[in-house]
Parts: sequence; structure tokens; C-alpha cells
Amino acid sequence: MIIDKNTPVVVTGGASGLGHACAVMFAKLGAKVAIFDLNDEMGNAVAAEIGGIYVHVDVSDPASVADGFKTARAAHGQERILINCAGIAPARKTVSRGAAHDPALFAKTIGVNLIGSFNTASQAAEGMAASDALNADGERGIIINTASVAAYDGQIGQIAYSASKGGIVGMTLPMARDLSDKGVRVNAIAPGIFGTPMVKAFPQEVQDALAADIPFPSRLGAPDEYASLARHMVENAMLNAEVIRLDGAIRMAP
Ligand code: NAD
Repeated sequence: MIIDKNTPVVVTGGASGLGHACAVMFAKLGAKVAIFDLNDEMGNAVAAEIGGIYVHVDVSDPASVADGFKTARAAHGQERILINCAGIAPARKTVSRGAAHDPALFAKTIGVNLIGSFNTASQAAEGMAASDALNADGERGIIINTASVAAYDGQIGQIAYSASKGGIVGMTLPMARDLSDKGVRVNAIAPGIFGTPMVKAFPQEVQDALAADIPFPSRLGAPDEYASLARHMVENAMLNAEVIRLDGAIRMAP
């Protein structure tokens, strides 16, 4: 898909981190960007920075998501690209070992990371499928979900987070197959360790140890590197039903 000034994009979690980098990158390419997030202050600041719009949306609530799409479509038209970056990573100590089975925290993490991505993807797909084709391929839209290396190498204290991200991997392939005859592609990116507010909240020694565990390059990923893969996924029509690890080959120890 060509990204230009006629391309409406929705980025969930666009107020911060990986979503923010995507919002900036798509705006630089001329696209009309709508940010769905809960953080009004940061969301409004990013919208002002990129000349897009911010909509207060809780992705875990289907009605809030529906309102968000209504607002975004009224401003920009039917979205052609959905980037699902909204997510939470509960502090490991709250779910580690003795407290491994905290039902409320488990439900919340699944609710935001997995069900939240399903809510936005399913509602976007409905609109995309009903829209006019964009090109000779019959392409109508693309959805990019965000998994994690935790989907494959979950560590102690990451039961809820890993389950939510494993669900993203599990959801992406059948969703892509379901939507293929509608011209909607679905892919996911599984990031390793990126230097976003989510990771910068860890103590410095934890960040340094994580960076040292990355075989190459031995540093935290830059959010722009995530955005550049998202751009590639949008532009390359043959990329479909794929989960790409973007992790410098890190394999997490327990
Ligand atoms: P971040 O904390 O910087 O940004 C996440 C954004 O999601 C925030 O702006 C937050 O307000 C928003 N959000 C949280 N709950 C929401 C909700 N219910 N509705 C709407 N918005 C909500 O984190 P990030 O590092 O940019 O993470 C983005 C995604 O990438 C997440 O899904 C995360 O799990 C995943 N991820 C991050 C890393 C990493 O190393 N940073 C690694 C693997 C996966």
C-alpha cells in the first residue's frame, strides 16, 4: 500500500513509545494520523506535534473503541492502516513466584493487550472490508499487531504478559486468513527490548543487563526501528499473516 496524504491511519498507544514513533513516521509520510490512547496529556501533545488528532479510547472497551473509530472516520475517512501498540506490562514483582496467580491482574493484562487488540482490529477490519479497493491487488487495509519476545520466551513473573502476547501471535494468522478475500492483511511485530517509557521505567542496571543480553546490536532497540518495520509491512503487499521478531536475536533466560 502506498502511504500518502490520502491515507488515514489509526495508531493505538500512539501517545508513547513504539506507537508514538509510528505516529510521527506516518505523519512525516503525509498520512492522516489518529491516535487512540488513554493518556490525554501525551496524546494531545503528540497530535499537536504531528498535525493529527488524538481520541481518548480505552482499547479494552469495545464501546470506547467504536466511539473512537466514529470520531477518527468523521475527521479523516475510513482508516486504511491500523497499528496496535496500546499495551501494558505489569511490574514483574507483582506477579512473580508466590503471587503468580493474580486473577485480576491476569484479566486486566489480557483485557488490554489481547482483547484490546482484537477490539480495534475487528472493528477496523469491518470498515476496511466494506471500503473501496485501493489498487489492482484489491487491497483495502492492513492491521499490524504488537506481540513480544515474551510470547516465546516468557520469564518468571511474566505469566499474564506472555499469555497476552502469545495470544497476539495466535490471533494474527487466522485473522489474516479470514480477511484475505476482503483485501485486508494482518501481520504482527514481536519486539525484543526497546527504549520506550515502558522499559525506561526499569532500574538502569536492569536496562543495561537486558541490552547486554542482546547478541547484536547490544543496545535497546530504537522506537524508529519498530516504525520502519511497520512501514515496510504496509508497503510490501506480499507480507501477510506474518509475525516478525525484531529483537537483535535475544533469547530470554528464565
Ligand atoms: P509505552 O508504555 O511507552 O506505550 C504504551 C501506550 O499504550 C501508552 O501511551 C499507554 O497510555 C497506552 N495504553 C495503555 N493501556 C491502554 C488502553 N487500555 N487503551 C488505550 N491505550 C492504552 O509502551 P511501548 O514500549 O511503546 O509498548 C508498545 C507495545 O509494544 C505494547 O503492546 C508493549 O507490550 C509492546 N512491546 C514493547 C516492548 C518494549 O521493549 N518496549 C517489547 C515488546 C513488546
